[in-house]
Amino acid sequence: MKKRAIETALAKKRAEVAKKKDEVAKNTALILSVPEIKTAHEKYVNAAFKNALGGFEKEEKAAKDAYIKALKDHGYDESDMTYTPACPICKDTGNAGGKLCKCVWDEYILALKEICDIDACAPFAFSDADFDGIKNENLRRELEKLYEYFKLYAQKLPNTKAKIITLCGGTGTGKTSLASAVAREAVERGKSVKFVSAYGFDTAMLNSHTSPTDEKLGRISDYLTADLLVIDDLGTEPILKNVTEPYLLLVLEERENKGLCTLITTNLSPARILNRYGERVYSRLASKQNSRIFKIDGKDLRLN
Ligand SMILES: [Zn+2]
Repeated sequence: MKKRAIETALAKKRAEVAKKKDEVAKNTALILSVPEIKTAHEKYVNAAFKNALGGFEKEEKAAKDAYIKALKDHGYDESDMTYTPACPICKDTGNAGGKLCKCVWDEYILALKEICDIDACAPFAFSDADFDGIKNENLRRELEKLYEYFKLYAQKLPNTKAKIITLCGGTGTGKTSLASAVAREAVERGKSVKFVSAYGFDTAMLNSHTSPTDEKLGRISDYLTADLLVIDDLGTEPILKNVTEPYLLLVLEERENKGLCTLITTNLSPARILNRYGERVYSRLASKQNSRIFKIDGKDLRLN
């Protein structure tokens, strides 16, 4: 996903540079078509050529001065005919010492947002959270602390201690909003995010399962490689035999091996997760080393 976004940003940069170079070329042709400039330019080129063979420095300088004067008389100067890179750091290549240059960063983020479909999948941002209406002070403080934790998590990922986080809580506790805010924050920091409902995840895994062997992994590569995978509302999807549990386990394991982050929201309690997905999935989610389970208990709390 990030690679695609980089390619898009660089392609846009290249198109801009090509357009600018084209404009300069057209401008040059126009300026050199002015008869006085044209004549002075030809004389200058000849003088420079002669001097290149040796001994005509003065003549070249005089011809150059005459040429520059001819340009000036018509309101031009040499820079009107030269392409100057807009970015002094990467000289408009977009590449700054092997890294994406600052000048293409905004385009990269735009492309990444598009590729991750973040506006549709995760419209709620941290800046949308408003706790003022919450009368219970303890609850409000707890939520503020929770949001603080997750904001930091979103900013650091995938370099976080907990790789798999499960947000448990009933309907209306705002866990999807929180997951959405994490996803948005991560994308805005240049990280790739796959945000999917548990149902969508199930469908994608089934699609992979029924694909020819050599296409299986390709079909779910975004799920395996995104810096953050959000599976929203685990437990609402149908359990598909040979698909739901084994593929969930496969994705969790693959992602953990790569050091990537997974965020799961669910109405299920940990005990029901164990019951529904079995010991192997549960032990991933409940691992003390790599995982954390949060329970959000807010009563009728709606964050958006
Ligand atoms: Zn640059």
